[in-house]
Amino acid sequence: MTRFIFKIFICLSVIGVAICFVDLVGCKKITAKTERREAPKQPLVKQEQQLMGTKVEIQAIGPSKPEIDQAIVRAFDEIRKIEDMAHPNREGSDVVLLNQSSGKHPVKVHEEIFEIFKQAREISERSHGAFDITFAAAGKLWNFKDPDAKFPTKKQLAEAVKLIDFRELMLDDEKRTAFLKKQGMQVGLGAIAKGYAADKAMAVLKQDHIKNAIVDAGGDVLLAGSKLGQPWTVGIQHPRKPHGQLYAILRVTKDAAVVTSGDYERFFIRDGILYHHILNPKTGEPARLCQSVTVIGPTGMLSDALATAIFVMGPEKGLEMVETFYPQVDVLIIDAVGGERRTAHFEEHVTILRAS
Ligand code: ADP
Ligand code: MG
Repeated sequence: MTRFIFKIFICLSVIGVAICFVDLVGCKKITAKTERREAPKQPLVKQEQQLMGTKVEIQAIGPSKPEIDQAIVRAFDEIRKIEDMAHPNREGSDVVLLNQSSGKHPVKVHEEIFEIFKQAREISERSHGAFDITFAAAGKLWNFKDPDAKFPTKKQLAEAVKLIDFRELMLDDEKRTAFLKKQGMQVGLGAIAKGYAADKAMAVLKQDHIKNAIVDAGGDVLLAGSKLGQPWTVGIQHPRKPHGQLYAILRVTKDAAVVTSGDYERFFIRDGILYHHILNPKTGEPARLCQSVTVIGPTGMLSDALATAIFVMGPEKGLEMVETFYPQVDVLIIDAVGGERRTAHFEEHVTILRAS
């Protein structure tokens, strides 16, 4: 995925005019490439690796370069571990083993995958099935990478939709097993595993005494501490402009996970209609009520899953769910016609700097 470098000067008028530098990080698939020394004894190190089907970038500030390097390597290793467990096609991954055993028998899964399944189930219940990791029965009928790929037929979609039901993913806490009740059922963790992996990577950095860092897993951005005493900033891609053109820049003044789901990420256009990768589990077809949803929540796993859930539910129901169950979470929605919606207290911890 292409990323661009943004470094901007922003004039802030706060009792007089102060000029400060703001480095953009994150944004959906757009990340700052700035490498700057915070102070002689607090170097900033940036590294990137291709993981979980995307570019993962970590920036960390710490006592010495060798120590930060080592911490970052451990953080990447942690992401790789999750990737191995959650991969949709890699032989022996928990997801592959579970899908192969659908309708047959339960499968013992790693603690990490079990934790993801539990969080997924909670959000499925609260979103009334808008978020559903068993969407994959329909997901596998689409190929968003190939614009010439065949469309799934109405019949195929109808058959697949019958296999989508999060209630039929049985979880046994004691044995730590999972079981897909109906043959042919499939799970896919594309809407939640990246956020979870980013959480794990940040936890490793913190274990290694790094307090100021960013983990950006392909637009799922975890923020900790600050950069040069300034809040980290995250750019939000404009959903209807070319990659790199921003809708807004968010200055976030709390440790948080900023995750955006958009219909411009993986898509093709046919006969003037945009077909993209976030599916409505009730129809098996692309969800149509939003262009982009940004969630600022306490963990990457929650923000990632909520962004997808709200995208499918649409602004009205999505905001209602957040206000009822996740009052600590901030949300910015660009709806189907480009209108903007936000949670009531959005600007307590987030400043929106307009990009254009
Ligand atoms: P991205 O992968 O671009 O960051 P998302 O977090 O929104 O975007 O996840 C989209 C992915 O989630 C899809 O590619 C697919 O794997 C999966 N997915 C699609 N629709 C749903 C859904 N309704 N519930 C759960 N997962 C979904
Ligand atoms: Mg998601």
